[in-house]
This record gives sequence, structure tokens and C-alpha cells, in this order.
Amino acid sequence: MRVTSIASGSSGNALVVEHAGEALLVDCGCPPRKLTQLLREVGAPATGLSAILLTHEHSDHIAGINAIPRALDVPFVMTPGTHAAQPRLGGTPIFAGRRVVEQPCGSTRSLGAFEVTSFPVSHDGAEVCGYLIAAGGRSVAVFTDLGAAEPHLHEPLAGADLLVIEANHDEGLLWRGPYPWHLKRRVAGPLGHLSNDACGLLLGQVLPDGGREVWLAHLSRTNNRPQVAASAVKNLLHINGQTGHTVQVLPQYGASLRWEPAPLQLALGL
Ligand SMILES: [Zn+2]
Ligand SMILES: [Zn+2]
Repeated sequence: MRVTSIASGSSGNALVVEHAGEALLVDCGCPPRKLTQLLREVGAPATGLSAILLTHEHSDHIAGINAIPRALDVPFVMTPGTHAAQPRLGGTPIFAGRRVVEQPCGSTRSLGAFEVTSFPVSHDGAEVCGYLIAAGGRSVAVFTDLGAAEPHLHEPLAGADLLVIEANHDEGLLWRGPYPWHLKRRVAGPLGHLSNDACGLLLGQVLPDGGREVWLAHLSRTNNRPQVAASAVKNLLHINGQTGHTVQVLPQYGASLRWEPAPLQLALGL
């Protein structure tokens, strides 16, 4: 399995997951031209995608949908609630003429080489989900918009080799920052976004002893800094005695973070 982040943050989210010559895209939230360019740069052009998984209908997750040609008839996988929300771009319903596959939260679906399980998350879309994607004995958990660190997320996070998880804001920067009061309350509330500290506490609770790769995602440009997010999460892991994991911060754009573990070796009995 190979995972490449190409966009992360409130201006756009997109992640490519590849295995055995197939490629999934999780969210398509940056402008279409930018998305086309980024996909080409990582060698996963839009024309070669097997499916697009959507976490929810907010624009930072769907704005680039027109980079995927309708003629390809590629499936868009989403919760029934995201489909029913009928998001629009420029007045046009974005799923018109698209092949939509509804995947209820809690269910698992085979998509070519991948097995995809969706999990409900508290965030203020119609029916927002995160995904656990498995292929070739490896798995990646993608939870980019989380209002709260709910207990049902422990299992998918604990079982994943790579965790792509939101560290949206530093609480001090948010509350001292320029956002209007109602927006601060939304971001910090149970239907908003996960803070650095909440992310670190959650990881400290769920991660096993070591060897996991953690990518901090969906950082706010206004209320966070990469260094601040990484330090907060590493500190909380350290306090919980968790020192054997790799923690990195996703860049806003570009494929500088790619995860491609060595293929699993079959154990040979003697
Ligand atoms: Zn959202
Ligand atoms: Zn978002």
C-alpha cells in the first residue's frame, strides 16, 4: 500500500491510496485545476482512479470534483446523508450525472483491491464519516474532521498502520485569535474540529506500543502552526509513555509526505 497526501487543511483535502495498480482518492477538496495538477504530480491521474471516497459535503472536501471527468463513470462513495444533502457548486448539484455509491456508516465494502469501512464522526455536516482502508495486509485510518474524540473511534485508530487524523487548532491560538465568537465556539465545540491537545490525548489512549505512523491533518492556517501541533501531540504521547511512533504534519499542498511500507513477508514455518 502506498499513501500520499496531496492537500490538507481548511482550503482543501485530498489523499491518494494505492495498491496493486489501483488508486483511491479520499476527498477532492482543492480547486479542480490544482487537483488535476497534484494528481498528475504523484503519478495517479484522475483518469486512473478506481473510486473517490467522500467524508462529507463541505467545500474543502468536494470543491475539486470537476477535475474528475464525468465520462469516466468512476464511483463516488459516501454516506446516504452526504448524498441526500445534494451539495452544489456554482448552483449545479455536484452529483448530477455521477455514479454514487451509498455506504452506510459502520459497513465494509470491497472496492477492487481495497476493503473500506466507514465510521460516523461528530462534525457538522449532514452525515460525516471517517474511513479505515485496508489492502495487502496494511491499513490507513482517515479521520480529518472530528468534533469529538468518541470511543467508537478507538478500534479503527488502534488497528491502523498509518493514522491520518485531525489536529485542527491550538486552543490558545483559537480563543485569542481573530475569529468571531460564534465561529470560535463552533470550531471548539463537539460538532467542530479536534484540537491539537484532544488529538494527542486520543492517540495516547488508543495507540499500541510503537511503530505507527501518524500524520496530523486539517491544520487551521489561522489557529495553528505545524510546529505547535507536532509538539503538542508528541508531548501527550510522551506523557502516556508512547515514544515509538512517527508523528508528522501534513503540508497544505504537495506530495512531500508519502507512506510506502515494505511489503509484508509471509512467515515461513520451519
Ligand atoms: Zn467539514
Ligand atoms: Zn474539512
